[in-house]
Amino acid sequence: MNIDVLTDKQLTLLEESIGQAEKIVVCCHKSPDGDAMGAVLAWSDYLQSQGKAPRAIVPDAYPDFLRWLPGSETLLRYDKHKEEADRIVAEADLVFCLDFDGLDRLDAMAAAMDNFKGRYVLIDHHTNPRIPGALALSFPEMCSTCELLFRIICQLGGFERMNRHMAVALYTGMMTDTGGFTYNSTRPEIYHVIGQLLTKGIDKDKIYRNVFNVFSPWAIRLRGYLMSQKLNVFDDFHASYFTISRRDMKNFHFIKGDVEGLVNEPLKIKGMKLSISLREDDRRDRVVWVSLRSVDDFPCNRMAAEFFDGGGHLNASGGHLNCTLAEAETIVHTAIIRYESLLKG
Ligand code: 5GP
Ligand code: MN
Repeated sequence: MNIDVLTDKQLTLLEESIGQAEKIVVCCHKSPDGDAMGAVLAWSDYLQSQGKAPRAIVPDAYPDFLRWLPGSETLLRYDKHKEEADRIVAEADLVFCLDFDGLDRLDAMAAAMDNFKGRYVLIDHHTNPRIPGALALSFPEMCSTCELLFRIICQLGGFERMNRHMAVALYTGMMTDTGGFTYNSTRPEIYHVIGQLLTKGIDKDKIYRNVFNVFSPWAIRLRGYLMSQKLNVFDDFHASYFTISRRDMKNFHFIKGDVEGLVNEPLKIKGMKLSISLREDDRRDRVVWVSLRSVDDFPCNRMAAEFFDGGGHLNASGGHLNCTLAEAETIVHTAIIRYESLLKG
């Protein structure tokens, strides 16, 4: 199966960018997920195999359930090492932006880019590449940035030298961005890629357990509580939302990652088309994080852009609101009513 993605011109530009660069930075969006982490780790490994010495910088903390990923201890956290990271970015001549479409998604790390004088290469599967002057390798049809990277690495002739760590990172990104291959994952190429990754000796069942079956007892209790006490279902609209307050988090000893993927749970209700979660920031007042998931052709990303200052993919999007949780609920009601025709249809 031919899984080339880049045009000859894109391939040449990418090869030239890598070849000419002396100081390379690889980064991803804030609150890195499995795809962002897998992409940063695998691509850094690839660049090393090409004799480069890239620095991998992530804007902030990543979830505990990704800490086992080989190489994660080498990542420089911007929020913890701002001065060092600012200097590295200012001195770099090439920055790879992986798994995000605009510098705003770097959060505080976006300021570091003000002093960057080199070239950007964006490698991503979101829909709206908007980094001025970047070589944009943007392929929204990919299930994950990791699928895209695997295909690019192959096109660059890097498959033979791909090691198991790289394969583990890439598989993790593909698996997490598709909810364990349960959504956005029907293209045959995905399974061809998985087959190739398996030849590198990865244990896909173990990767699944490492990522998905690592909740604490408190996390399981919190998730059960949220589904039983905080879920609001609009039967006629095939839509639902739930809220997570700071009090809930305190009561259940919340740590980052505890509600990971929970927004998918209400989609298990028969006929459900849209699920929204609203989570209060654990420190800042009037910051509510919004996650949206949908099935079929309901456009979460449109709703996220219109109501929640966000975006993302057709079936998985996010955003945020600067208001109280109660006010956020009102906005969700408005959003659901505004999309009545798509939801009821
Ligand atoms: P999550 O619900 O896991 O935070 O996000 C789901 C998807 O939406 C991810 O693919 C993420 O990249 C995207 N996303 C989350 N927040 C934002 C946002 O503020 N802006 C945009 N453009 N995409 C977002
Ligand atoms: Mn992704």
